[in-house]
Amino acid sequence: MPADKTNFHDAIIIGAGFSGLYQLHQLRDQLGLEVLVVEAGQDVGGTWYWNRYPGARCDSESYYYSYSFSKALQREWRWTERYAEHGEIRRYLDHVADRFDLRRNIRFGTRVRAARWDDGNTLWEIETEAGETLTCRFLITAVGCLSAANVPDIPGLGGFSGQWHHTGRWPHEGVDFTGKRVGLIGTGSTGMQAAPVIAAQAAHLTVFQRTANYSIPSRNRPLSAEAWAEIQENYDAIRTKTITSSNGHPFEVFDKSALDVSPEERDARYERAWAEGGLGFRASFNDLLKNKAANDTASEFIRRKIRAIVKDPEVAAMLTPSDHPFASKRPPVDTDYFETFNRSNVTLVDVKAAPIQEVTAHGLRTSAAEYELDIIVFATGFDALTGPLLAMDIAGQNGCRLRKDWAGGPRSYLGLQVPGYPNMFTITGPGSPSVLTNMPVAIEQHTQWITACIAHMLAQGFNRIETSLAEAEAWGAEVNAAAHATLLPLANSSWYLGANVPGKPRAFMPYAGGMAHYAQICAEVAQDNYRGFTLGRVPGG
Ligand SMILES: Cc1cc2nc3c(=O)[nH]c(=O)nc-3n(C[C@H](O)[C@H](O)[C@H](O)COP(=O)(O)OP(=O)(O)OC[C@H]3O[C@@H](n4cnc5c(N)ncnc54)[C@H](O)[C@@H]3O)c2cc1C
Repeated sequence: MPADKTNFHDAIIIGAGFSGLYQLHQLRDQLGLEVLVVEAGQDVGGTWYWNRYPGARCDSESYYYSYSFSKALQREWRWTERYAEHGEIRRYLDHVADRFDLRRNIRFGTRVRAARWDDGNTLWEIETEAGETLTCRFLITAVGCLSAANVPDIPGLGGFSGQWHHTGRWPHEGVDFTGKRVGLIGTGSTGMQAAPVIAAQAAHLTVFQRTANYSIPSRNRPLSAEAWAEIQENYDAIRTKTITSSNGHPFEVFDKSALDVSPEERDARYERAWAEGGLGFRASFNDLLKNKAANDTASEFIRRKIRAIVKDPEVAAMLTPSDHPFASKRPPVDTDYFETFNRSNVTLVDVKAAPIQEVTAHGLRTSAAEYELDIIVFATGFDALTGPLLAMDIAGQNGCRLRKDWAGGPRSYLGLQVPGYPNMFTITGPGSPSVLTNMPVAIEQHTQWITACIAHMLAQGFNRIETSLAEAEAWGAEVNAAAHATLLPLANSSWYLGANVPGKPRAFMPYAGGMAHYAQICAEVAQDNYRGFTLGRVPGG
Protein backbone atom coordinates (compact mmCIF):
# COMPACT_ATOMS: atom_id res chain seq x y z
CA MET A 1 0.00 0.00 0.00
CA PRO A 2 1.36 3.47 -0.82
CA ALA A 3 2.26 5.99 1.87
CA ASP A 4 -0.72 8.15 0.85
CA LYS A 5 -3.63 5.82 1.54
CA THR A 6 -6.40 8.31 0.92
CA ASN A 7 -6.94 7.42 -2.69
CA PHE A 8 -5.90 3.77 -2.49
CA HIS A 9 -8.34 0.97 -3.29
CA ASP A 10 -7.84 -2.78 -3.42
CA ALA A 11 -9.38 -2.71 -6.88
CA ILE A 12 -10.55 -0.08 -9.32
CA ILE A 13 -13.03 -1.07 -11.98
CA ILE A 14 -13.47 1.20 -14.98
CA GLY A 15 -17.06 1.15 -16.27
CA ALA A 16 -20.49 0.64 -14.70
CA GLY A 17 -22.33 -1.45 -17.28
CA PHE A 18 -23.22 -5.13 -16.98
CA SER A 19 -19.53 -5.96 -16.41
CA GLY A 20 -18.55 -3.34 -13.87
CA LEU A 21 -21.66 -3.77 -11.74
CA TYR A 22 -21.29 -7.50 -11.32
CA GLN A 23 -17.53 -7.30 -10.84
CA LEU A 24 -18.06 -4.77 -8.05
CA HIS A 25 -20.65 -6.98 -6.37
CA GLN A 26 -18.30 -9.95 -6.41
CA LEU A 27 -15.11 -8.25 -5.28
CA ARG A 28 -16.81 -6.24 -2.57
CA ASP A 29 -19.46 -8.65 -1.31
CA GLN A 30 -17.75 -12.00 -1.85
CA LEU A 31 -14.12 -11.12 -1.23
CA GLY A 32 -14.60 -8.15 1.09
CA LEU A 33 -12.32 -5.90 -0.94
CA GLU A 34 -12.42 -2.13 -0.91
CA VAL A 35 -13.48 -1.36 -4.48
CA LEU A 36 -14.14 1.76 -6.49
CA VAL A 37 -15.90 1.89 -9.83
CA VAL A 38 -15.24 4.91 -12.01
CA GLU A 39 -17.71 5.62 -14.77
CA ALA A 40 -17.67 8.36 -17.40
CA GLY A 41 -21.48 8.47 -17.61
CA GLN A 42 -23.72 9.97 -14.95
CA ASP A 43 -25.44 6.71 -14.10
CA VAL A 44 -25.18 2.94 -14.41
CA GLY A 45 -26.11 1.12 -17.61
CA GLY A 46 -23.06 1.31 -19.88
CA THR A 47 -24.26 0.57 -23.42
CA TRP A 48 -27.83 1.33 -22.35
CA TYR A 49 -26.91 4.59 -20.69
CA TRP A 50 -25.47 5.87 -23.98
CA ASN A 51 -27.57 4.15 -26.66
CA ARG A 52 -31.05 5.69 -26.44
CA TYR A 53 -31.71 6.11 -30.13
CA PRO A 54 -35.16 5.32 -31.55
CA GLY A 55 -35.58 1.57 -31.82
CA ALA A 56 -32.64 0.73 -29.52
CA ARG A 57 -33.23 -2.63 -27.93
CA CYS A 58 -31.35 -5.88 -27.37
CA ASP A 59 -31.35 -8.61 -29.98
CA SER A 60 -30.57 -11.36 -27.51
CA GLU A 61 -33.96 -12.19 -26.01
CA SER A 62 -34.51 -10.21 -22.84
CA TYR A 63 -35.01 -13.15 -20.47
CA TYR A 64 -31.48 -14.34 -21.13
CA TYR A 65 -29.97 -10.93 -21.89
CA SER A 66 -29.69 -10.60 -18.13
CA TYR A 67 -27.67 -11.83 -15.18
CA SER A 68 -27.99 -15.41 -14.05
CA PHE A 69 -25.95 -15.17 -10.85
CA SER A 70 -28.88 -14.40 -8.55
CA LYS A 71 -31.99 -16.53 -8.65
CA ALA A 72 -33.80 -14.02 -6.46
CA LEU A 73 -33.03 -11.25 -8.97
CA GLN A 74 -34.14 -13.51 -11.80
CA ARG A 75 -37.42 -14.30 -10.03
CA GLU A 76 -38.31 -10.76 -9.15
CA TRP A 77 -37.56 -9.11 -12.51
CA ARG A 78 -40.34 -9.40 -15.10
CA TRP A 79 -39.35 -8.61 -18.68
CA THR A 80 -42.24 -7.21 -20.68
CA GLU A 81 -41.12 -7.81 -24.28
CA ARG A 82 -39.31 -10.50 -26.19
CA TYR A 83 -36.55 -7.93 -26.88
CA ALA A 84 -36.38 -5.29 -24.19
CA GLU A 85 -36.18 -1.69 -25.27
CA HIS A 86 -33.26 0.41 -24.02
CA GLY A 87 -35.28 2.08 -21.24
CA GLU A 88 -36.32 -1.25 -19.80
CA ILE A 89 -32.75 -2.58 -19.78
CA ARG A 90 -31.68 0.61 -18.04
CA ARG A 91 -34.40 0.12 -15.42
CA TYR A 92 -33.18 -3.44 -14.93
CA LEU A 93 -29.57 -2.33 -14.37
CA ASP A 94 -30.81 0.47 -12.06
CA HIS A 95 -32.66 -2.16 -10.10
CA VAL A 96 -29.53 -4.33 -9.92
CA ALA A 97 -27.49 -1.36 -8.68
CA ASP A 98 -30.06 -0.58 -5.97
CA ARG A 99 -30.79 -4.16 -4.99
CA PHE A 100 -27.12 -4.92 -4.37
CA ASP A 101 -26.41 -1.46 -2.99
CA LEU A 102 -23.74 -0.81 -5.59
CA ARG A 103 -23.99 2.94 -6.12
CA ARG A 104 -22.08 3.84 -2.95
CA ASN A 105 -18.90 2.47 -4.55
CA ILE A 106 -19.37 4.07 -7.96
CA ARG A 107 -18.08 7.45 -8.92
CA PHE A 108 -20.04 8.79 -11.90
CA GLY A 109 -18.98 11.50 -14.31
CA THR A 110 -15.38 10.34 -13.96
CA ARG A 111 -13.48 9.42 -17.07
CA VAL A 112 -10.12 7.69 -16.78
CA ARG A 113 -7.55 9.43 -18.93
CA ALA A 114 -4.48 7.37 -18.11
CA ALA A 115 -3.24 4.45 -16.04
CA ARG A 116 0.36 3.76 -15.09
CA TRP A 117 1.84 0.66 -13.49
CA ASP A 118 4.11 1.43 -10.54
CA ASP A 119 6.39 -1.57 -10.39
CA GLY A 120 8.18 -0.53 -7.21
CA ASN A 121 4.95 -0.31 -5.25
CA THR A 122 3.07 -3.04 -7.13
CA LEU A 123 0.11 -0.86 -7.86
CA TRP A 124 -1.71 1.02 -10.55
CA GLU A 125 -1.97 4.78 -10.64
CA ILE A 126 -5.09 6.00 -12.37
CA GLU A 127 -5.48 9.54 -13.62
CA THR A 128 -8.93 10.92 -14.24
CA GLU A 129 -9.77 13.60 -16.77
CA ALA A 130 -10.33 15.97 -13.87
CA GLY A 131 -6.66 15.45 -12.95
CA GLU A 132 -7.22 13.35 -9.83
CA THR A 133 -4.89 10.42 -9.08
CA LEU A 134 -6.20 7.19 -7.62
CA THR A 135 -4.20 4.06 -6.84
CA CYS A 136 -5.12 0.41 -6.61
CA ARG A 137 -3.66 -3.07 -6.42
CA PHE A 138 -5.87 -4.51 -9.17
CA LEU A 139 -7.10 -2.61 -12.20
CA ILE A 140 -10.08 -4.12 -13.97
CA THR A 141 -11.29 -2.67 -17.22
CA ALA A 142 -15.03 -3.07 -17.71
CA VAL A 143 -15.02 -0.48 -20.47
CA GLY A 144 -17.18 -2.46 -22.91
CA CYS A 145 -16.50 -3.71 -26.42
CA LEU A 146 -18.86 -1.22 -28.03
CA SER A 147 -18.48 2.00 -26.11
CA ALA A 148 -16.11 4.15 -28.18
CA ALA A 149 -18.43 5.82 -30.69
CA ASN A 150 -17.07 5.94 -34.24
CA VAL A 151 -18.02 9.27 -35.80
CA PRO A 152 -16.64 9.36 -39.35
CA ASP A 153 -14.35 12.22 -40.14
CA ILE A 154 -16.41 13.78 -42.93
CA PRO A 155 -15.21 17.19 -44.10
CA GLY A 156 -17.61 20.01 -43.33
CA LEU A 157 -19.41 18.45 -40.36
CA GLY A 158 -18.54 21.43 -38.18
CA GLY A 159 -20.34 23.76 -40.59
CA PHE A 160 -23.61 21.80 -40.73
CA SER A 161 -26.51 24.08 -39.83
CA GLY A 162 -28.78 21.29 -38.63
CA GLN A 163 -28.37 18.82 -35.77
CA TRP A 164 -26.26 15.68 -35.89
CA HIS A 165 -26.09 12.79 -33.44
CA HIS A 166 -24.23 9.51 -33.09
CA THR A 167 -26.57 6.74 -31.97
CA GLY A 168 -24.14 5.70 -29.25
CA ARG A 169 -24.19 9.18 -27.70
CA TRP A 170 -27.89 9.85 -28.02
CA PRO A 171 -29.30 12.94 -26.24
CA HIS A 172 -31.18 11.93 -23.10
CA GLU A 173 -34.01 14.31 -23.88
CA GLY A 174 -34.58 12.54 -27.23
CA VAL A 175 -34.69 13.99 -30.74
CA ASP A 176 -37.91 15.16 -32.38
CA PHE A 177 -37.96 14.13 -36.03
CA THR A 178 -41.42 15.53 -36.73
CA GLY A 179 -41.47 17.34 -40.07
CA LYS A 180 -37.70 16.90 -40.49
CA ARG A 181 -35.57 15.66 -43.35
CA VAL A 182 -33.33 13.08 -41.78
CA GLY A 183 -30.18 11.42 -43.12
CA LEU A 184 -29.22 8.09 -41.53
CA ILE A 185 -25.68 6.91 -42.21
CA GLY A 186 -25.01 3.23 -41.59
CA THR A 187 -27.04 0.07 -41.99
CA GLY A 188 -25.64 -2.30 -39.37
CA SER A 189 -27.74 -3.52 -36.43
CA THR A 190 -28.28 0.00 -35.15
CA GLY A 191 -29.23 1.59 -38.48
CA MET A 192 -31.65 -1.25 -39.10
CA GLN A 193 -33.30 -0.73 -35.71
CA ALA A 194 -33.51 3.03 -36.09
CA ALA A 195 -34.66 3.41 -39.71
CA PRO A 196 -38.27 2.18 -39.34
CA VAL A 197 -38.87 4.24 -36.19
CA ILE A 198 -37.38 7.43 -37.64
CA ALA A 199 -39.24 6.94 -40.94
CA ALA A 200 -42.54 6.73 -39.08
CA GLN A 201 -41.98 10.20 -37.62
CA ALA A 202 -39.84 12.17 -40.05
CA ALA A 203 -41.00 14.08 -43.11
CA HIS A 204 -38.38 12.22 -45.11
CA LEU A 205 -35.66 9.70 -44.31
CA THR A 206 -32.64 9.17 -46.55
CA VAL A 207 -30.66 6.05 -45.68
CA PHE A 208 -27.02 6.13 -46.77
CA GLN A 209 -25.86 2.54 -47.21
CA ARG A 210 -22.32 1.34 -47.83
CA THR A 211 -22.85 -2.39 -47.34
CA ALA A 212 -26.15 -4.20 -47.81
CA ASN A 213 -26.79 -6.40 -44.81
CA TYR A 214 -28.74 -9.54 -44.00
CA SER A 215 -31.36 -9.33 -41.30
CA ILE A 216 -33.91 -11.64 -39.77
CA PRO A 217 -37.27 -10.35 -38.50
CA SER A 218 -37.17 -10.11 -34.71
CA ARG A 219 -40.91 -10.81 -34.29
CA ASN A 220 -40.76 -8.71 -31.17
CA ARG A 221 -43.90 -8.96 -29.03
CA PRO A 222 -45.03 -8.46 -25.46
CA LEU A 223 -44.18 -11.43 -23.25
CA SER A 224 -47.55 -12.81 -22.27
CA ALA A 225 -48.27 -14.15 -18.80
CA GLU A 226 -48.16 -17.70 -20.19
CA ALA A 227 -44.86 -17.13 -21.99
CA TRP A 228 -43.42 -15.63 -18.84
CA ALA A 229 -44.65 -18.50 -16.66
CA GLU A 230 -43.02 -20.96 -19.04
CA ILE A 231 -39.72 -19.07 -18.94
CA GLN A 232 -39.80 -18.99 -15.13
CA GLU A 233 -40.50 -22.68 -14.99
CA ASN A 234 -37.60 -23.48 -17.34
CA TYR A 235 -35.13 -20.84 -16.27
CA ASP A 236 -32.60 -23.33 -14.90
CA ALA A 237 -32.57 -25.32 -18.12
CA ILE A 238 -32.37 -22.13 -20.20
CA ARG A 239 -29.38 -20.88 -18.21
CA THR A 240 -27.66 -24.24 -18.49
CA LYS A 241 -28.13 -24.14 -22.24
CA THR A 242 -26.63 -20.66 -22.48
CA ILE A 243 -23.44 -21.68 -20.69
CA THR A 244 -23.03 -24.93 -22.59
CA SER A 245 -23.63 -23.40 -26.02
CA SER A 246 -21.10 -21.99 -28.43
CA ASN A 247 -22.49 -18.45 -28.34
CA GLY A 248 -24.32 -17.95 -25.05
CA HIS A 249 -27.79 -18.29 -26.58
CA PRO A 250 -30.09 -21.11 -25.49
CA PHE A 251 -30.76 -22.33 -29.01
CA GLU A 252 -31.21 -25.92 -30.01
CA VAL A 253 -28.90 -26.19 -33.00
CA PHE A 254 -30.35 -28.61 -35.56
CA ASP A 255 -27.64 -31.23 -35.76
CA LYS A 256 -27.37 -31.59 -39.52
CA SER A 257 -25.61 -29.84 -42.34
CA ALA A 258 -27.75 -27.64 -44.58
CA LEU A 259 -26.41 -29.77 -47.38
CA ASP A 260 -27.60 -33.06 -45.87
CA VAL A 261 -31.30 -32.41 -46.34
CA SER A 262 -33.43 -32.00 -49.43
CA PRO A 263 -33.97 -28.47 -50.80
CA GLU A 264 -37.62 -28.73 -49.69
CA GLU A 265 -36.77 -29.65 -46.11
CA ARG A 266 -34.10 -26.97 -46.01
CA ASP A 267 -36.49 -24.26 -47.15
CA ALA A 268 -39.17 -25.48 -44.77
CA ARG A 269 -36.69 -25.14 -41.89
CA TYR A 270 -35.65 -21.67 -42.97
CA GLU A 271 -39.32 -20.67 -43.35
CA ARG A 272 -40.05 -21.83 -39.80
CA ALA A 273 -37.02 -20.00 -38.43
CA TRP A 274 -37.99 -16.84 -40.39
CA ALA A 275 -41.52 -17.02 -38.98
CA GLU A 276 -40.20 -17.59 -35.45
CA GLY A 277 -37.77 -14.69 -35.91
CA GLY A 278 -34.58 -13.76 -34.09
CA LEU A 279 -31.01 -14.94 -33.97
CA GLY A 280 -32.12 -18.57 -33.70
CA PHE A 281 -32.23 -18.55 -37.50
CA ARG A 282 -28.50 -19.31 -37.32
CA ALA A 283 -29.27 -22.56 -35.52
CA SER A 284 -31.29 -23.91 -38.46
CA PHE A 285 -28.30 -26.09 -39.39
CA ASN A 286 -25.02 -26.92 -37.68
CA ASP A 287 -22.65 -25.66 -40.37
CA LEU A 288 -23.96 -22.25 -41.44
CA LEU A 289 -20.90 -20.49 -40.07
CA LYS A 290 -18.41 -23.12 -41.14
CA ASN A 291 -19.26 -24.25 -44.61
CA LYS A 292 -19.62 -21.71 -47.40
CA ALA A 293 -21.86 -23.88 -49.54
CA ALA A 294 -24.17 -24.47 -46.56
CA ASN A 295 -24.12 -20.77 -45.75
CA ASP A 296 -24.99 -19.94 -49.37
CA THR A 297 -28.34 -21.67 -48.91
CA ALA A 298 -29.22 -19.44 -45.94
CA SER A 299 -27.84 -16.31 -47.60
CA GLU A 300 -29.87 -17.00 -50.73
CA PHE A 301 -33.02 -17.66 -48.72
CA ILE A 302 -32.70 -14.24 -47.06
CA ARG A 303 -31.96 -12.55 -50.39
CA ARG A 304 -35.18 -14.03 -51.78
CA LYS A 305 -37.08 -12.67 -48.79
CA ILE A 306 -35.65 -9.18 -49.32
CA ARG A 307 -36.66 -9.27 -53.00
CA ALA A 308 -40.16 -10.41 -52.01
CA ILE A 309 -40.61 -7.69 -49.38
CA VAL A 310 -39.18 -4.67 -51.21
CA LYS A 311 -41.49 -3.60 -54.02
CA ASP A 312 -39.11 -1.50 -56.13
CA PRO A 313 -36.74 -4.01 -57.81
CA GLU A 314 -33.91 -1.48 -58.01
CA VAL A 315 -34.13 -0.70 -54.31
CA ALA A 316 -34.43 -4.41 -53.55
CA ALA A 317 -31.25 -5.06 -55.53
CA MET A 318 -29.41 -2.38 -53.58
CA LEU A 319 -30.59 -3.89 -50.29
CA THR A 320 -29.57 -7.41 -51.25
CA PRO A 321 -26.22 -8.41 -49.74
CA SER A 322 -23.79 -10.11 -52.06
CA ASP A 323 -20.28 -9.47 -50.74
CA HIS A 324 -20.25 -11.50 -47.53
CA PRO A 325 -21.84 -14.65 -46.13
CA PHE A 326 -24.85 -14.42 -43.79
CA ALA A 327 -23.76 -13.95 -40.13
CA SER A 328 -20.11 -13.30 -41.00
CA LYS A 329 -20.86 -9.75 -39.84
CA ARG A 330 -22.84 -9.20 -36.65
CA PRO A 331 -26.26 -10.51 -37.72
CA PRO A 332 -29.01 -7.97 -37.04
CA VAL A 333 -32.63 -8.67 -36.27
CA ASP A 334 -35.18 -6.06 -37.24
CA THR A 335 -38.75 -4.88 -37.08
CA ASP A 336 -39.93 -3.90 -40.56
CA TYR A 337 -36.53 -2.76 -41.81
CA PHE A 338 -36.92 -3.91 -45.41
CA GLU A 339 -40.63 -2.91 -45.40
CA THR A 340 -39.53 0.64 -44.55
CA PHE A 341 -38.19 1.04 -48.10
CA ASN A 342 -41.73 0.66 -49.45
CA ARG A 343 -42.69 3.94 -47.78
CA SER A 344 -42.97 7.00 -49.99
CA ASN A 345 -40.95 9.11 -47.52
CA VAL A 346 -37.86 6.87 -47.57
CA THR A 347 -34.95 6.96 -50.04
CA LEU A 348 -31.99 4.61 -50.18
CA VAL A 349 -28.62 5.92 -51.36
CA ASP A 350 -25.74 3.63 -52.25
CA VAL A 351 -22.61 5.33 -50.94
CA LYS A 352 -20.34 2.59 -52.14
CA ALA A 353 -21.23 3.54 -55.71
CA ALA A 354 -21.21 7.28 -54.95
CA PRO A 355 -19.20 7.96 -51.76
CA ILE A 356 -20.05 10.71 -49.31
CA GLN A 357 -17.72 13.61 -49.99
CA GLU A 358 -18.72 16.27 -47.52
CA VAL A 359 -21.27 17.62 -45.14
CA THR A 360 -22.50 20.93 -46.48
CA ALA A 361 -24.23 23.67 -44.51
CA HIS A 362 -27.60 22.18 -45.46
CA GLY A 363 -27.00 18.48 -45.91
CA LEU A 364 -24.73 15.89 -47.40
CA ARG A 365 -22.99 15.69 -50.74
CA THR A 366 -22.03 12.41 -52.37
CA SER A 367 -20.02 12.16 -55.57
CA ALA A 368 -23.37 11.94 -57.42
CA ALA A 369 -25.79 14.33 -55.68
CA GLU A 370 -26.55 16.65 -52.79
CA TYR A 371 -29.19 15.81 -50.16
CA GLU A 372 -30.80 18.53 -48.06
CA LEU A 373 -31.13 17.44 -44.45
CA ASP A 374 -32.20 18.89 -41.10
CA ILE A 375 -30.79 16.09 -38.96
CA ILE A 376 -27.95 13.64 -39.60
CA VAL A 377 -27.88 10.41 -37.60
CA PHE A 378 -24.60 8.52 -37.51
CA ALA A 379 -25.32 4.82 -37.01
CA THR A 380 -21.68 4.20 -37.78
CA GLY A 381 -20.92 1.94 -34.87
CA PHE A 382 -17.91 1.81 -32.66
CA ASP A 383 -14.16 1.53 -32.55
CA ALA A 384 -14.87 -1.95 -31.25
CA LEU A 385 -13.03 -3.96 -28.61
CA THR A 386 -9.70 -2.15 -28.58
CA GLY A 387 -11.14 1.39 -28.93
CA PRO A 388 -12.17 2.01 -25.30
CA LEU A 389 -8.89 0.54 -23.98
CA LEU A 390 -6.70 2.55 -26.34
CA ALA A 391 -8.67 5.72 -25.62
CA MET A 392 -6.85 5.63 -22.27
CA ASP A 393 -3.09 6.11 -22.12
CA ILE A 394 -2.14 2.87 -20.38
CA ALA A 395 1.51 2.46 -19.43
CA GLY A 396 2.77 -0.87 -18.13
CA GLN A 397 6.02 -2.32 -16.91
CA ASN A 398 9.30 -0.74 -18.06
CA GLY A 399 7.43 2.14 -19.63
CA CYS A 400 5.61 0.04 -22.24
CA ARG A 401 2.51 1.67 -23.71
CA LEU A 402 -0.61 -0.20 -24.74
CA ARG A 403 -1.08 2.06 -27.77
CA LYS A 404 2.39 1.08 -28.98
CA ASP A 405 2.16 -2.58 -28.03
CA TRP A 406 -1.14 -2.94 -29.89
CA ALA A 407 -0.18 -0.84 -32.91
CA GLY A 408 -0.26 -3.99 -35.04
CA GLY A 409 -3.38 -5.42 -33.36
CA PRO A 410 -4.26 -6.57 -29.85
CA ARG A 411 -2.10 -9.09 -27.98
CA SER A 412 -3.58 -10.69 -24.92
CA TYR A 413 -3.57 -13.99 -23.07
CA LEU A 414 -7.14 -15.35 -23.13
CA GLY A 415 -8.43 -11.82 -23.63
CA LEU A 416 -7.98 -11.50 -19.88
CA GLN A 417 -4.54 -10.02 -19.45
CA VAL A 418 -1.98 -8.19 -21.57
CA PRO A 419 1.72 -9.07 -21.19
CA GLY A 420 3.63 -6.19 -19.62
CA TYR A 421 0.57 -4.99 -17.66
CA PRO A 422 0.61 -6.88 -14.34
CA ASN A 423 -2.50 -6.95 -12.12
CA MET A 424 -4.68 -5.58 -14.92
CA PHE A 425 -7.62 -7.67 -16.12
CA THR A 426 -9.69 -6.84 -19.18
CA ILE A 427 -13.31 -8.02 -19.00
CA THR A 428 -14.42 -9.26 -22.44
CA GLY A 429 -11.10 -8.07 -23.81
CA PRO A 430 -9.97 -8.78 -27.39
CA GLY A 431 -9.06 -12.45 -27.69
CA SER A 432 -12.10 -13.61 -25.70
CA PRO A 433 -15.50 -14.62 -27.18
CA SER A 434 -17.09 -11.29 -26.15
CA VAL A 435 -19.15 -9.88 -29.02
CA LEU A 436 -19.61 -13.29 -30.66
CA THR A 437 -21.78 -14.29 -27.73
CA ASN A 438 -24.81 -13.27 -25.80
CA MET A 439 -22.66 -10.97 -23.73
CA PRO A 440 -24.01 -11.39 -20.19
CA VAL A 441 -22.80 -15.00 -20.40
CA ALA A 442 -19.29 -13.91 -21.42
CA ILE A 443 -19.33 -11.17 -18.78
CA GLU A 444 -20.35 -13.51 -15.96
CA GLN A 445 -17.72 -16.03 -17.00
CA HIS A 446 -14.95 -13.41 -17.06
CA THR A 447 -15.88 -11.62 -13.86
CA GLN A 448 -16.25 -14.92 -11.99
CA TRP A 449 -12.87 -16.09 -13.27
CA ILE A 450 -11.21 -12.81 -12.23
CA THR A 451 -12.85 -12.98 -8.80
CA ALA A 452 -11.68 -16.55 -8.27
CA CYS A 453 -8.18 -15.60 -9.41
CA ILE A 454 -7.95 -12.68 -6.99
CA ALA A 455 -9.40 -14.83 -4.19
CA HIS A 456 -6.70 -17.40 -4.89
CA MET A 457 -4.02 -14.72 -4.78
CA LEU A 458 -5.27 -13.36 -1.47
CA ALA A 459 -5.43 -16.84 0.01
CA GLN A 460 -1.82 -17.50 -1.06
CA GLY A 461 -0.59 -14.11 0.06
CA PHE A 462 0.27 -13.11 -3.52
CA ASN A 463 0.16 -9.51 -4.70
CA ARG A 464 1.21 -9.75 -8.33
CA ILE A 465 0.02 -11.61 -11.41
CA GLU A 466 1.33 -11.25 -14.93
CA THR A 467 1.45 -13.11 -18.18
CA SER A 468 4.15 -13.31 -20.83
CA LEU A 469 4.46 -12.28 -24.44
CA ALA A 470 4.99 -15.92 -25.42
CA GLU A 471 1.62 -16.87 -23.86
CA ALA A 472 -0.13 -13.95 -25.54
CA GLU A 473 1.37 -14.84 -28.91
CA ALA A 474 0.44 -18.50 -28.55
CA TRP A 475 -3.11 -17.49 -27.64
CA GLY A 476 -3.18 -15.02 -30.55
CA ALA A 477 -2.40 -17.93 -32.87
CA GLU A 478 -5.36 -19.83 -31.37
CA VAL A 479 -7.64 -16.84 -31.89
CA ASN A 480 -6.53 -16.61 -35.49
CA ALA A 481 -6.95 -20.34 -36.11
CA ALA A 482 -10.41 -20.32 -34.51
CA ALA A 483 -11.51 -17.44 -36.75
CA HIS A 484 -10.21 -19.16 -39.86
CA ALA A 485 -12.09 -22.33 -39.03
CA THR A 486 -15.24 -20.24 -39.63
CA LEU A 487 -16.55 -17.97 -42.38
CA LEU A 488 -16.21 -14.91 -40.15
CA PRO A 489 -13.02 -13.51 -41.77
CA LEU A 490 -14.82 -13.46 -45.15
CA ALA A 491 -16.62 -10.25 -44.25
CA ASN A 492 -13.98 -7.74 -45.28
CA SER A 493 -15.83 -4.71 -43.97
CA SER A 494 -16.62 -6.17 -40.56
CA TRP A 495 -15.90 -4.40 -37.29
CA TYR A 496 -14.83 -7.76 -35.87
CA LEU A 497 -11.75 -7.15 -38.04
CA GLY A 498 -11.44 -3.47 -37.27
CA ALA A 499 -12.32 -2.66 -40.87
CA ASN A 500 -14.82 0.10 -40.00
CA VAL A 501 -12.22 2.44 -38.53
CA PRO A 502 -9.72 4.05 -40.93
CA GLY A 503 -6.13 3.17 -40.05
CA LYS A 504 -7.08 0.44 -37.56
CA PRO A 505 -4.94 -2.70 -37.99
CA ARG A 506 -6.83 -5.61 -39.55
CA ALA A 507 -6.94 -8.43 -37.04
CA PHE A 508 -9.83 -10.68 -36.16
CA MET A 509 -10.30 -9.69 -32.52
CA PRO A 510 -12.84 -11.91 -30.75
CA TYR A 511 -12.22 -15.62 -30.04
CA ALA A 512 -14.45 -17.66 -32.36
CA GLY A 513 -13.78 -21.09 -30.86
CA GLY A 514 -17.04 -21.07 -28.91
CA MET A 515 -18.07 -19.77 -25.49
CA ALA A 516 -18.36 -23.11 -23.72
CA HIS A 517 -15.04 -24.31 -25.09
CA TYR A 518 -13.38 -21.05 -24.08
CA ALA A 519 -14.82 -21.23 -20.55
CA GLN A 520 -13.44 -24.76 -20.30
CA ILE A 521 -9.96 -23.54 -21.31
CA CYS A 522 -10.09 -20.76 -18.70
CA ALA A 523 -11.21 -23.22 -16.02
CA GLU A 524 -8.37 -25.59 -16.89
CA VAL A 525 -5.87 -22.73 -16.79
CA ALA A 526 -7.04 -21.88 -13.27
CA GLN A 527 -7.02 -25.52 -12.13
CA ASP A 528 -3.54 -25.93 -13.54
CA ASN A 529 -2.21 -23.36 -11.10
CA TYR A 530 -3.01 -20.47 -13.42
CA ARG A 531 -0.99 -21.87 -16.28
CA GLY A 532 0.50 -19.09 -18.40
CA PHE A 533 0.43 -16.59 -15.55
CA THR A 534 3.16 -15.90 -13.03
CA LEU A 535 1.80 -15.27 -9.56
CA GLY A 536 3.82 -14.28 -6.57
CA ARG A 537 4.53 -11.93 -3.75
CA VAL A 538 6.97 -9.13 -4.34
CA PRO A 539 8.29 -6.70 -1.76
CA GLY A 540 6.87 -3.21 -1.87
CA GLY A 541 3.32 -4.36 -2.44
C1 LIG B 1 -27.17 -0.87 -29.48
C2 LIG B 1 -26.53 -2.06 -28.89
C3 LIG B 1 -27.27 -3.22 -28.72
C4 LIG B 1 -26.68 -4.34 -28.15
N1 LIG B 1 -27.42 -5.46 -28.02
C5 LIG B 1 -26.85 -6.56 -27.50
C6 LIG B 1 -27.58 -7.78 -27.38
O1 LIG B 1 -28.72 -7.88 -27.75
N2 LIG B 1 -26.93 -8.85 -26.88
C7 LIG B 1 -25.64 -8.81 -26.47
O2 LIG B 1 -25.12 -9.81 -26.01
N3 LIG B 1 -24.95 -7.66 -26.54
C8 LIG B 1 -25.50 -6.56 -27.05
N4 LIG B 1 -24.78 -5.41 -27.15
C9 LIG B 1 -23.41 -5.37 -26.63
C10 LIG B 1 -23.38 -4.68 -25.23
O3 LIG B 1 -22.37 -3.74 -25.29
C11 LIG B 1 -23.15 -5.72 -24.13
O4 LIG B 1 -24.21 -6.63 -24.13
C12 LIG B 1 -23.06 -5.16 -22.71
O5 LIG B 1 -23.95 -4.12 -22.47
C13 LIG B 1 -21.64 -4.75 -22.38
O6 LIG B 1 -21.55 -4.42 -21.03
P1 LIG B 1 -20.18 -3.90 -20.44
O7 LIG B 1 -20.44 -3.51 -19.05
O8 LIG B 1 -19.12 -4.87 -20.70
O9 LIG B 1 -19.80 -2.63 -21.33
P2 LIG B 1 -20.62 -1.30 -21.56
O10 LIG B 1 -22.06 -1.52 -21.33
O11 LIG B 1 -20.19 -0.76 -22.85
O12 LIG B 1 -20.12 -0.35 -20.39
C14 LIG B 1 -18.82 0.19 -20.38
C15 LIG B 1 -18.83 1.44 -19.57
O13 LIG B 1 -17.48 1.85 -19.40
C16 LIG B 1 -17.46 3.26 -19.42
N5 LIG B 1 -16.11 3.68 -19.81
C17 LIG B 1 -15.45 3.36 -20.95
N6 LIG B 1 -14.23 3.95 -20.95
C18 LIG B 1 -14.13 4.65 -19.79
C19 LIG B 1 -13.13 5.46 -19.21
N7 LIG B 1 -11.95 5.71 -19.84
N8 LIG B 1 -13.37 6.04 -18.00
C20 LIG B 1 -14.56 5.80 -17.35
N9 LIG B 1 -15.54 5.06 -17.87
C21 LIG B 1 -15.33 4.48 -19.07
C22 LIG B 1 -18.48 3.66 -20.45
O14 LIG B 1 -18.95 4.96 -20.22
C23 LIG B 1 -19.56 2.60 -20.25
O15 LIG B 1 -20.57 3.08 -19.42
C24 LIG B 1 -25.33 -4.28 -27.73
C25 LIG B 1 -24.58 -3.13 -27.93
C26 LIG B 1 -25.17 -2.04 -28.51
C27 LIG B 1 -24.33 -0.80 -28.71
